[in-house]
Amino acid sequence: MKFAGFYRGDLDGLAGPLTREAAAQWSMSHRQLRDRYGMLDKRSEDNLWTLQPLAALKVRQMMTALRGLADWKLICGIRTYAEQDSLYKKRPRVTRAKGGQSMHNFGIAADVCLFVDGKDVWTPSEGADSIYKPVAALAHKLGLVWGGDFKSIYDPGHVQLGELPTAILHHAYTTGSATLAQLLQS
Ligand SMILES: [Zn+2]
Repeated sequence: MKFAGFYRGDLDGLAGPLTREAAAQWSMSHRQLRDRYGMLDKRSEDNLWTLQPLAALKVRQMMTALRGLADWKLICGIRTYAEQDSLYKKRPRVTRAKGGQSMHNFGIAADVCLFVDGKDVWTPSEGADSIYKPVAALAHKLGLVWGGDFKSIYDPGHVQLGELPTAILHHAYTTGSATLAQLLQS
């Protein structure tokens, strides 16, 4: 909430009136986006509401368009540092990022998945028949970074807002030194 610019106090770990005020602002901002673009399925909505509103705006626009095409759902929004750390320890390895090293940790990344007859579909993911073509097209159009363009790993279900270094995001996110909007402008 501090990162979104809604919380104006110090990051003291206490939930007081300023926290409640910020939480109300967080909800209002997501409600406005939902009212403007329309309600999605429950899972996508739940994940969307975990995102920084600046990211949620673009991801919601993408999801609205995607759901006009097929049963795409948002399957991941924010991941806390603790959740990221336990994912990091998983074997076989599923991520190289520890807490504070994934774009998901700051609420600026989301993962989509296609469902057919209620079942998640993962292939084909590459080439001319790729099911992720509309994700790529919409991400590019909306100015989101698409995980299929990554040089390190091909991650076609992943989209994120900007390409800020995680060290900078981590510092601002944990100390409250800057909001997301300020980082994106600098
Ligand atoms: Zn992702």
